[in-house]
Amino acid sequence: STDDRISRISSSIRVIPDFPKPGIMFQDITTLLLDPKAFKDTIDLFVERYKDQNINVVAGIEARGFIFGPPIALAIGAKFVPMRKPKKLPGEVISEEYSLEYGTDIMEMHVGAVQAGERALVVDDLIATGGTLSAAIRLLERVGVDVVECACVIELPELKGRNRLGDKPLFVLVT
Ligand code: AMP
Repeated sequence: STDDRISRISSSIRVIPDFPKPGIMFQDITTLLLDPKAFKDTIDLFVERYKDQNINVVAGIEARGFIFGPPIALAIGAKFVPMRKPKKLPGEVISEEYSLEYGTDIMEMHVGAVQAGERALVVDDLIATGGTLSAAIRLLERVGVDVVECACVIELPELKGRNRLGDKPLFVLVT
């Protein structure tokens, strides 16, 4: 059942306290990847949700969106577009700045990777404050892409990241 699959996914995620700094409970999805059934169930649950939604773009956020995004894209027949840290993409890019707990960061996407009117799903492993996903949404919307939904394996609900996504739906497997 779906509940059995969610339980297996949830128990396969390792929590490491105080990484990378004191007070952070790091949700480590590398242990999920070590369990082929949990990894497959994760991808299958997303594919079941998105296969008939005419999505042509899966935008994956560096780095762990690069693990979950491509198998979803292949299964639903969409292209995969990497959303990267600055100065990694070799072609012409558009950039979006976003705020972190201390300071700011930049996300980049190749110009020409997506076209106005295309329908996108944004994928990452986890939503905390929502700053990262909201930057990805802004980048895609600036070039006229319709962001249908954001999908994460994990949500940390106490940080209320959902509220930063405006009217964009967020789908998560584990809270
Ligand atoms: P945010 O922009 O605050 O929603 O943070 C989300 C990004 O930071 C994602 O790319 C996550 O991989 C990473 N992240 C934030 N908090 C955690 C956490 N507690 N455990 C693992 N990854 C995290």
